[in-house]
Amino acid sequence: MTDTLDTPTVDADTLDELRDWLTDNWDPDLTVADWWARLGPAGWAAPTLPANAYGRGLARSVGVQVQQEIAAFGALGAPSGLGLLLAAPTIADHGTQEQIDLYVRDIVTGQRAWCQLFSEPGAGSDLAGLTTRAVEDGDEWIVDGQKVWTSLGQTADLGMLIARTAPELPKHQGITYFAIDMHQPGIEVRPLREMTGHAMFNETFLTEARVASSAIIGAKNNGWAVANSTLGHERAGLGSGGGTVGGVAQPGTIAGHLERRAGDFAPKSADRSAQGGPTKRRSRGGSAQVLIGMAKGNGAIADPVTRQGLMRLHILGEIGRYNAERVKASRAAGRDIPGMANIAKLSMSQIVALQRDLGLGIVGPQGLLHGYTPEQQKLNDEATGNPFLAMVTGTALYAQAPPIYGGTDQIQRNIIGERVLGLPKEPNDDKTRAFADLPKNA
Ligand SMILES: Cc1cc2nc3c(=O)[nH]c(=O)nc-3n(C[C@H](O)[C@H](O)[C@H](O)COP(=O)(O)OP(=O)(O)OC[C@H]3O[C@@H](n4cnc5c(N)ncnc54)[C@H](O)[C@@H]3O)c2cc1C
Repeated sequence: MTDTLDTPTVDADTLDELRDWLTDNWDPDLTVADWWARLGPAGWAAPTLPANAYGRGLARSVGVQVQQEIAAFGALGAPSGLGLLLAAPTIADHGTQEQIDLYVRDIVTGQRAWCQLFSEPGAGSDLAGLTTRAVEDGDEWIVDGQKVWTSLGQTADLGMLIARTAPELPKHQGITYFAIDMHQPGIEVRPLREMTGHAMFNETFLTEARVASSAIIGAKNNGWAVANSTLGHERAGLGSGGGTVGGVAQPGTIAGHLERRAGDFAPKSADRSAQGGPTKRRSRGGSAQVLIGMAKGNGAIADPVTRQGLMRLHILGEIGRYNAERVKASRAAGRDIPGMANIAKLSMSQIVALQRDLGLGIVGPQGLLHGYTPEQQKLNDEATGNPFLAMVTGTALYAQAPPIYGGTDQIQRNIIGERVLGLPKEPNDDKTRAFADLPKNA
């Protein structure tokens, strides 16, 4: 497993321009808000967005290299979270220029944090079956219903809300996509604690919540197309290894990071050397290297099944990288490869599951010692002499999430089967019958 195999194709001119820009602009003593106010409008926070949406129109694979280069330089990267990953590209695709200037600018500068109000207790895989309702009231809409699994809802300023606005239409046609203000009495966010120890996601209750008509993204009753755009960006972004959900510096008015010193959130020199410095970049293979190092250290590398697993992990990472390059080449030629976002997301689920199984196999019984706090992790590190133990156990606990979020693995396979391979859909009449007339669970 050499670095040559692991090194993605690099857009040298763009990265040279970025390095020059960072040399002129990065100052660790700026506040996080002031640093992002430079990074965002320069197009480096969201370089894959088009130029009219505070980006540079770069390919996704180059966007990932930009993130890595900023980290390798030792500067604080773009705002983390769902605003940059999902809301900004969706609004760039479907919003008016006025909405882009209102919402996307605040995303790339980290001023506002977003959450995704899609899933409901009765509508996850069958997302178009959602029952949260929005009723028009003059220039506003009144929203009632419940969402669930709302990642980072507790620190969100705005939500990407999909709600039913025309129950008399078939279920995919009567949905509207809104940018809703989370700071209002009609919205209550209740955290749910996961087995990782974190409470990343929440239940969100909307009771006579209000949202302006001007906050509709795309057209009234056209929200299904807009939501699919968000899901496409989610699958492609997660599959490419870009767009972290929870980074070190969080955007928005609630997290409290904006007025802190940017340098305090920037990668430390140890993190930088772990990434191999400015000329070598971390890729999916990076985790394989950590696992190989651990296996060599405790002798697990002598086990042929472990070695096979490590090779499989490396191969999956390489296939992902080649597929990203194929997408890039195909887009440059004005074409698309159908289903690639779904394949990338499926592949990412497999990679994380393999990391879980290999990591736990390599550390053996130590894998039972998960530190839920930095203090506990330090004690475990000292007791086991393995500084990567928390990474292994943390990955193992989190590995159950990727096959579910952004559409489950089964749903990705359904989409590939139906839309790419042309296999027949399950027969139903929900495309023609009014949503209000469809049979529902009591
Ligand atoms: C970590 C995490 C973060 C999340 N963050 C958010 C968020 O921020 N915002 C948000 O809106 N949602 C979020 N989600 C929710 C996620 O999108 C849903 O959990 C997912 O779409 C599945 O829906 P469900 O949980 O209702 O499962 P269900 O739809 O009830 O599915 C249950 C099982 O049945 C299978 N199944 C269902 N239908 C079919 C079918 N037609 N064919 C084959 N198999 C099928 C599924 O694959 C699954 O195994 C998050 C989920 C996780 C795990």
